[in-house]
Amino acid sequence: MKTKKNLDTTTGWKNQNSKDLYGIDDWGHGYFSINRKGNLVVKPDKGQSQLEILEVIEHLKKNKINTPVLLRFPQILESRIHELYECFDRSINESGYQARYKGVFPLKVNQRKDVIDEIVRAGKKYNYGLEAGSKPELIESLSFKLNPESLLVCNGYKDKHYIRTAIEASLLKNNIILVIDQLDEIHDIIKFSKKLNANPCLGIRLRLYSRGSGKWAESGGEASKFGLTTVELLTALDILTKNGMVPNLKMLHFHIGSQITEVRRIQNAVKEASRIYAKVKGMASALEYFNIGGGLGVDYDGSKTSSDASANYSMQEYTNNVVFTLKEICDEEGIEHPTVVTESGRAIVVYHSMLITNLAYEKSIHYDRNVEVGEDTPNVLQNLYSCLDEITIKNYRELYHDSLQYKDEILYMFNLGQLGLEDKAKGETLFYKICQKIYRYLQQTENESEEFDYVRKLISKKYIGNFSMFQSMPDFWAIDQLFPIVPIQKLNKEPTNRGTILDITCDSDGEIDKFVDVKDVKDLLELHALDNNPYYVAVLLLGAYQDSIGDLHNLFGAIHEAHVVLKDDDEWDIKRVIKGDTVNDVLTMLKFNKRSLVHGIETSVQRSVDDGDISYQMGKSILNNMKKEINDYTYLDF
Ligand SMILES: *Cc1c(COP(=O)(O)O)cnc(C)c1O
Repeated sequence: MKTKKNLDTTTGWKNQNSKDLYGIDDWGHGYFSINRKGNLVVKPDKGQSQLEILEVIEHLKKNKINTPVLLRFPQILESRIHELYECFDRSINESGYQARYKGVFPLKVNQRKDVIDEIVRAGKKYNYGLEAGSKPELIESLSFKLNPESLLVCNGYKDKHYIRTAIEASLLKNNIILVIDQLDEIHDIIKFSKKLNANPCLGIRLRLYSRGSGKWAESGGEASKFGLTTVELLTALDILTKNGMVPNLKMLHFHIGSQITEVRRIQNAVKEASRIYAKVKGMASALEYFNIGGGLGVDYDGSKTSSDASANYSMQEYTNNVVFTLKEICDEEGIEHPTVVTESGRAIVVYHSMLITNLAYEKSIHYDRNVEVGEDTPNVLQNLYSCLDEITIKNYRELYHDSLQYKDEILYMFNLGQLGLEDKAKGETLFYKICQKIYRYLQQTENESEEFDYVRKLISKKYIGNFSMFQSMPDFWAIDQLFPIVPIQKLNKEPTNRGTILDITCDSDGEIDKFVDVKDVKDLLELHALDNNPYYVAVLLLGAYQDSIGDLHNLFGAIHEAHVVLKDDDEWDIKRVIKGDTVNDVLTMLKFNKRSLVHGIETSVQRSVDDGDISYQMGKSILNNMKKEINDYTYLDF
């Protein structure tokens, strides 16, 4: 039997309604869609083929890999690198720019080996390189085999160990550019270059007046943490001249912050830096790289605005702005066009991973006391009862204010010992029922005023998500970063609930109560009512920064990971599964060792058996079970 699968016959709700509601086409950049079954799909190469997330999750579940699980789509990384080079190529060709573009990926944004493996592999044909911001990151980057043409840029604060390591690495055929972030670094650089008889390529990070916009605006400007002022730049050039190292200076660099929300800011920074480049080029003719750092924004909420979660420009507009501005100024100054380098991180990796978690029961508080009032019921309860009785769509605002007052009065009287528990429960029930009515009127009158936020919050559903916000989406907590969240099934049915999602940590901050919306930020997300089947949601755009910032709050560890690749004709393959942390793994990170953990439990079991509190059999079974739990996943099994 063939049925029209994408149409919910009861409400006429279609896939397109879900796309609009969750903004999938707005922030999804063409990588996500909904199939005929109403399930979320991924198109890792933006082509015709797609793969269904629910199928992948069910397959993993059969193989005992339960949610929460992080899915990675390596093909999306490839697609992003490809897109970045295409955009630059187009700008370069259109403007008649006389040099090329060469990107590097900043490890800070995602240092996972399997992610960098894929980036290095996919970037080979473009001579895509890497950027390290610390000695550990430098040592990590040396473990990958880059093309001889690919750059390896070393940024960040440097001590003599970092500097020596970088200079030694430059002797091993690595195309290293050691960027001077602080003027003082120059002395050790000169010292080790002489000592090791090395001739390293150098860069200088500029401290521009131009600043970014958005949350990281402070990374730029004259008061920023990094970079050389004009005075320091000239001093550096003097020192290099004195030591005969001016020909080593190959790159000027700046970075005005991540997630720059306005394209104008980028253009201003390029203007300022390209003038500086032109002047320095006059003194250091070997200069050839113009490195504009990261900051290429990602439109997390799909609004295409300069709000913090968005960016008011596309990748093509970004590259156009950079290349056209740079060309104009270089031509005016009459200098050769430099190779353009970027260190875009967020924009490269953000789309490639998503968290899938199951939502469990809705924790709705029960308000089902009998609310009948009689003659001997205290006045305040009678008044509240009248509010419930008399409230209508016309007077709900006024009666809401009255009820708030009665509610306060009830608490006051209870605290004075004038009301009993039964009365207090009755009062809470009445207030809840009033709010239920108000909530309906709000919807009917499309009233969105903030005055009723409390009502909306009280009436909304609470879903429990089997994950830890602190492990999997730490920036939501740390910097209010918004991430799109979408159910992976039932998208052909209208979601009739609105709610927030609580994580399973014991932290009251562990609640997702801000959701992306094209027009605004939503406090509640539309979700379906739960039935007996598992209900999964995807938290998307997690690929940038979250993997390494996540922590062990409540000892919830790394989650399972699966790398999914699309083959032809909607077929897919799981290329790799990386099991998440066990209880033992996280305790080991905290310097416990399994032997002493087990020994502690053994001792107390033995004591209870000796004292005759439990049988030998029971003792043995408790011990076996504890040992099993130590080797188990840290997340809940529901
Ligand atoms: C963080 C950082 C980047 C990456 O920025 P994105 O906004 O993620 O592209 C690039 N360069 C430097 C120096 C950085 O500190």
